[in-house]
Amino acid sequence: MAGMAEAGHAGAAAKEDPMKTRQWLLADHPRGRPLKDSDFTLVETEIADDPGPGEALAQVVWLGFDPAQKGWAENVADYVAPMAIGDVMRGSGIVRIVKSNTSRLKEGGLYAGQTGWTEWLLTNGAGFEPVHPDLPPTAMLSVLGTTGLTAWCGLFKLGEPKPGDTVVVSGAAGATGSTVGQLAKVAGARAIGIAGGAEKCRWLLEEAGYDAAIDYKAEDVRARLKALCPAGIDVVFDNVGGRILNDMLGEIATGARVVICGGISRYETGTMPAGPENYFNLVFRRASMRGFIVLDWANEFPAIRKRLAALVKEGKLAFRIDEQQGFENTPRTLMRLFTGENRGKQVLKVAD
Ligand code: NAP
Repeated sequence: MAGMAEAGHAGAAAKEDPMKTRQWLLADHPRGRPLKDSDFTLVETEIADDPGPGEALAQVVWLGFDPAQKGWAENVADYVAPMAIGDVMRGSGIVRIVKSNTSRLKEGGLYAGQTGWTEWLLTNGAGFEPVHPDLPPTAMLSVLGTTGLTAWCGLFKLGEPKPGDTVVVSGAAGATGSTVGQLAKVAGARAIGIAGGAEKCRWLLEEAGYDAAIDYKAEDVRARLKALCPAGIDVVFDNVGGRILNDMLGEIATGARVVICGGISRYETGTMPAGPENYFNLVFRRASMRGFIVLDWANEFPAIRKRLAALVKEGKLAFRIDEQQGFENTPRTLMRLFTGENRGKQVLKVAD
């Protein structure tokens, strides 16, 4: 969390009118329940407007949102440092450099990195990457950010789709899922997406290049999978867990690869569901089921990002951004991921 820890620096005490930044602090660990407004507190704190040697003053322009942020606030996983009550809420964003004393960050430049939920921060630039010169800046939070990298690594490193394979994706209309479907098509596979609602399913077919879509809120998922995948599913890319994972496991083909990317259906529940009844199909079908954390391939991100950017420029990989407005709406914007209100990558514009 370079930058975030520094964001609370006291401003120059000698100044009459010190610079201030608003920040959202973690006020409660939202374990075993949905997020609430009271999980976060909005504060205003002083910040030095004159960066020290090797530092830059950065203004956050966009914040990006990931379901994992709820888990970070809960402290459920050990792949990131624990969060304490009173910490600035952790998260990614895009900053504009306003004053710089480091050659790593150019004044006026836009950079993506871990900003935390703050309007301004001081950073030495560690972990910040310049935005792509030819694509909208928010691409660095979506198709070229954790979202695109997760889709790529999960699908190609674990799923290993081959031409003619059938790839089934849950959470298919989301930021990660919609990228997975398009990458599966690039690999010559058939892509079937599962999403909530007719409008999202229409979008999967008309815009995101999926071959078939299943509306889990209105249809019998297992029956539809059986009809659409008579030879079984070769690659499962699961973002949601629960009943949908169970239905997909019931329809896997021999040698299937089941990739566990996320399990959003369980992120807000107090009691964990029993394991999927259909797991034993992994034995009958000689299949594998593996989870992953995308950060494990961090050393490959620059090369993967180049390939993702090339696919976008070739018109083979579309992405959509759901942009909300206003720093005061930060916690509410995170909550949109859990109600399915987001249409594509969820971001928040906090400054012009
Ligand atoms: P997203 O898919 O853009 O947004 C979340 C979507 O989840 C919602 O739009 C909603 O779509 C669906 N959803 C919410 N509650 C649900 C429920 N109870 N049952 C079924 N679906 C539900 O978010 P994202 O950032 O791309 O993340 C997708 C998944 O990838 C998450 O599970 C996340 O944790 C995971 N992830 C994993 C890694 C890793 O390294 N393993 C890295 C990044 C992200 P519907 O309207 O279709 O329900």
